[in-house]
Amino acid sequence: SFNRQDRDREVNVQVILRCRPLSDDEQSSNSSRVVTCNELKREVTISQSIANKQVDRLFTFDKVFGPKAQQRSIYDQAIAPIVKEVLDGYNCTIFAYGQTGTGKTYTMEGAMKSKGSEVCAEAGVIPRAVRQIFDILEAQNADYSMKVSFLELYNEEITDLLTSEDNYYSRFSDDKQKKSVSLMEDGRGCVIIRGLEEEVVYTANDIYNLMERGAAKRRTADTLLNKRSSRSHSVFTITVHVKDISIGEEELIKCGKLNLVDLAGSENISRSGVREGRAREAGEINKSLLTLGRVINALVEHSAHIPYRDSKLTRLLRDSLGGKTKTCIIATISPSTHCLEETLSTLDYAYRAK
Ligand code: ADP
Ligand code: MG
Repeated sequence: SFNRQDRDREVNVQVILRCRPLSDDEQSSNSSRVVTCNELKREVTISQSIANKQVDRLFTFDKVFGPKAQQRSIYDQAIAPIVKEVLDGYNCTIFAYGQTGTGKTYTMEGAMKSKGSEVCAEAGVIPRAVRQIFDILEAQNADYSMKVSFLELYNEEITDLLTSEDNYYSRFSDDKQKKSVSLMEDGRGCVIIRGLEEEVVYTANDIYNLMERGAAKRRTADTLLNKRSSRSHSVFTITVHVKDISIGEEELIKCGKLNLVDLAGSENISRSGVREGRAREAGEINKSLLTLGRVINALVEHSAHIPYRDSKLTRLLRDSLGGKTKTCIIATISPSTHCLEETLSTLDYAYRAK
């Protein structure tokens, strides 16, 4: 029962939390668990022992998934309803946010292999979203077209992950041939990315192949430049045009966009400007990660000024954040006591986005 004004002010930001299992290393080093998840109550409890006293902190989110949660149940319960909106013409964005090693890439990509038309059990959000989009379009016998792009943002610079190998690797030499990608905006606030390849895709397999190609480039880049992937963001975008109805000569086309974003490790901003409003040394801060938090806070608080222009990531996603869009943040944490401080800062960041 919203009236129109309410609906315009509505902010569609969902925050879900996922805690991974203890890793083999954590288990063998007898790392104890400090995180308890209550999926039914949508609560996460952090238990600390401070001066021999047990201190619990409790956080509530839109959804909570504990260490036993399967890729499939996270997708079906939290992501599928959002992806459905893309086909109704919404721009939607799913972010994975969290400390390096807590499962962002596992959650977004997981295992990419698919058996025939089924995705495998370990498949993450991206392959499942691709599957769902094709299933819906095929069931509707829709007249559609689809494009995909895959980029990486590192040090506020965009790299095309789908471009030919030569162009990509020249980034790591002084070769000046590298193709530059730049951001622009048209008069209506739509984002234009110049120099970025958009590949037309016809089948789910086309997309899986592109995804594999881009992900392999990220992995190679990681070995060339240590820890690169923990400091870079990757943005996988699927754009769908669906023919809606025809009224006489006129055709209505619905256009929706799905951005799937694997963010840089949150250890790159914690204890810096977000909380205290003050920055650490400039080089250490991941400007895009910091600005994303500020933009989401501003949207949630209905601020008059949304600082989109302060970073590349928020400029890039401008037409998919705020307004008639849907956003989901999947915050990932480790259950281990060794990650306690980063876990608390992830929970704070995610909680403030609600
Ligand atoms: P990040 O991208 O946040 O740095 P990764 O996705 O690479 O973290 O995960 C780190 C390791 O933990 C990987 O080996 C991954 O397979 C494993 N992992 C992460 N989340 C889960 C989970 N929910 N269940 C099982 N293994 C997981
Ligand atoms: Mg990763």
